[in-house]
Amino acid sequence: MRKILVTGGAGFIGSAVIRHIIQHTSDAVVNLDKLTYAGNLESLATVANSPRYHFAKLDICDHAGLDALFVEHQPDAVMHLAAESHVDRSISGPAEFINTNIVGTYTLLEAARAYWNELDAERKAAFRFHHISTDEVYGDLPHPSDSAECSMLSGELKDQTLNTQHSQLNTAALPLFTETTPYAPSSPYSASKASSDHLVRAWHRTYGLPTIITNCSNNYGPYHFPEKLIPLVILNALEGKPLPIYGKGDQIRDWLYVEDHARALYEVVTRGEVGETYNIGGHNEQQNIDVVKTICGILDELAPSDFSPYASLITHVIDRPGHDVRYAIDAAKIERELGWTPQETFESGIRKTVEWYLINEDWVSNVKQRGKP
Ligand code: NAD
Repeated sequence: MRKILVTGGAGFIGSAVIRHIIQHTSDAVVNLDKLTYAGNLESLATVANSPRYHFAKLDICDHAGLDALFVEHQPDAVMHLAAESHVDRSISGPAEFINTNIVGTYTLLEAARAYWNELDAERKAAFRFHHISTDEVYGDLPHPSDSAECSMLSGELKDQTLNTQHSQLNTAALPLFTETTPYAPSSPYSASKASSDHLVRAWHRTYGLPTIITNCSNNYGPYHFPEKLIPLVILNALEGKPLPIYGKGDQIRDWLYVEDHARALYEVVTRGEVGETYNIGGHNEQQNIDVVKTICGILDELAPSDFSPYASLITHVIDRPGHDVRYAIDAAKIERELGWTPQETFESGIRKTVEWYLINEDWVSNVKQRGKP
């Protein structure tokens, strides 16, 4: 039995990782979380009573607290997910992103290194520091409407925001992010994550700390804090509120179901190669406007109300400054080397997600009361 220290385990992805480990493996988990507005222990209700689960409320910037935690719990691996994660908040207030994502990752690396240095040779060789990061560190990719041969599609994109039809996205000839794509972050959030990736790489190269990095695309699924696009749209629609879309809504994201991601992360921390990076994506490129229309269509079917058709609530708002136009992941390396593939299509995953929000009103009202979406 391994003991894995998960940072940010009360967050959206961290809680999915912990549920996966407790429910599908024999490993134990120490969940280290500061419980910011984004941290919700209710997301762990199904596993919190397990004798293999332990929670510690701690800030990753607290060096002395981290030292004591490592000594007390003697983990075999760290999965580092604690972060400030919302791009809009990083634009209005970058300080917390610099503090947690950069200074916090540095502090955690130093505490992990001090602990790792004292391990016996066998445990030292087996130890892993797995840093969870984003594809946003790579900047953005060409959009289909950029190329001349796609100018017709571009026209269609403009028109289709006015009706309920989805566009036929043709991105087959366009590049994807690979593990060797140069870093070019656009937002304070992605710049802070890029910085933390560089620190992790340096701690491997300079000190030999056995690190692995994963960069993933946009996650979606149950327990997602309702400031992010998908839960925001579901919950706003149910309340008859406007469904805000940045600009034309033609930004393309590659959606990854959170439980597929949690499974991938466990494969990486247990079987990934030290010093390597793995990109994780869902093969699900979608324009934001189409994501919103898909959700509206499912809600029309599952929760018809005075507000349906819900697509009538779509409201275009001024675009985010520096907004990346397209992200898309080439996940061939993790598929080839670790045999991982996503199980959910976007169609199956988004339906599960909408259904989850429809039957988990208590979780939603609790996080809304405490958090500030
Ligand atoms: P989240 O915002 O839902 O959760 C972050 C968690 O970290 C929260 O529980 C919060 O309380 C905790 N935390 C924040 N600051 C802390 C601190 N100083 N000390 C200890 N705990 C702290 O984030 P998420 O969506 O679950 O993302 C997890 C990781 O995955 C992040 O590193 C993020 O950059 C990365 N990521 C997320 C996505 C996505 O689509 N959500 C995509 C790519 C990468």
